[in-house]
Amino acid sequence: MRIDALTLDYFRNYTHLEAKFDPQVNVIYGDNAQGKTNLLEAVGYLSGLSHRARFDKELIQFGVDHAFLKGDITARERLFVLEAELNRGSRKELRANGVKLKNTAELSGIFQSVLFCPEDLYLIREGAAARRKYLDDCICQLRPRYAQALAEYKRLHEHKIRILRDSEEKPSLLDTLDEFSLGMAKAGAVIVHYRAHFVKRLKQVAPAVHSDFSGGHEQLGLRYETVSTVTDPEASPQVIFEQLLRHQEAHRAAEIASRQCLSGPHKDDLIVEIDGNLAKTYSSQGQTRTAALSLKLAAREIFQQDTGEYPVLLLDDVLSELDPKRQEFVLNRIQGGQVFITCCEDDRLEKLLKGKTLYIKSGKLQ
Ligand code: ATP
Ligand code: MG
Repeated sequence: MRIDALTLDYFRNYTHLEAKFDPQVNVIYGDNAQGKTNLLEAVGYLSGLSHRARFDKELIQFGVDHAFLKGDITARERLFVLEAELNRGSRKELRANGVKLKNTAELSGIFQSVLFCPEDLYLIREGAAARRKYLDDCICQLRPRYAQALAEYKRLHEHKIRILRDSEEKPSLLDTLDEFSLGMAKAGAVIVHYRAHFVKRLKQVAPAVHSDFSGGHEQLGLRYETVSTVTDPEASPQVIFEQLLRHQEAHRAAEIASRQCLSGPHKDDLIVEIDGNLAKTYSSQGQTRTAALSLKLAAREIFQQDTGEYPVLLLDDVLSELDPKRQEFVLNRIQGGQVFITCCEDDRLEKLLKGKTLYIKSGKLQ
């Protein structure tokens, strides 16, 4: 899978860009604040990733009302032209080969990418939200049904939080509470089921990557942690649904008393251990970085197993944060698919990698 060409209009600091890419390695270099990350973000956007922006309007150039992205994609030996039109005032429009798409999940059905940025190096040390986001980003790209369930769950969850919060002043709001709990249990069951199955795959792939990475010295352990009443997270969504619902019923009074949404898949975590010890608490800086890298590279391998093709790998500024041994490991591991690597100086990477070098200055390709 690869992106052969990209056109941008009014996207972040790119007023207009037309770029062609190498099928394998693309090194994007330039000084700080020139648009390297923005370029990766544009490629990520066409694959349905929301990377930095919480809202599409952040992607539109300051002072302009719309932005346009177009990518020529080769996937499953077919060509796809993916287009996105973003508007400040109205909804975005997404198209594949001229046909309108319903949502970003449909983009990821066609084109997939795995992004790796410096914050990801802290994936293991961060709170559970960062690891949930890792799971969500991976599974959303693989399973459109998961993306739908996740969006539905988030919508209901936000609504339920508001009901609980405002119920003191307006107790009648609580009449609708059970309806929201029911919807959350339904969507939540799908989420738990898919997360459990993804972690099962991850357990088959990530420890081997981590072991290679650490020269065979370290053993990576992974465990999915979800709502305590769910006896088997890999069970069918129907079974999980009933267990989630029972759990919510048992906590109904406590939720109303505390005005908080107490438990559910929104509190899930991926527990990471190194040699049997909780990585978050006991591992060194280097060990947690290695584990984070292993999780990301494992995700790329799982995509490949699932789709027969490597997703495009977007490496934003990570190499500079790694020691030479780990840099070399990453560069060896990423052979096979298309990769975009940003950095501030090109010479060192050019020696390590063969491919195309794109120099970016003030939102322009030089
Ligand atoms: P670094 O090496 O520091 O990571 P970079 O080349 O990755 O830098 P980017 O993050 O791509 O830099 O950002 C380049 C510039 O884009 C920034 O100066 C930022 O202010 C600008 N920018 C971000 N969003 C918009 C926008 N919506 N409209 C116009 N400019 C924007
Ligand atoms: Mg950057």
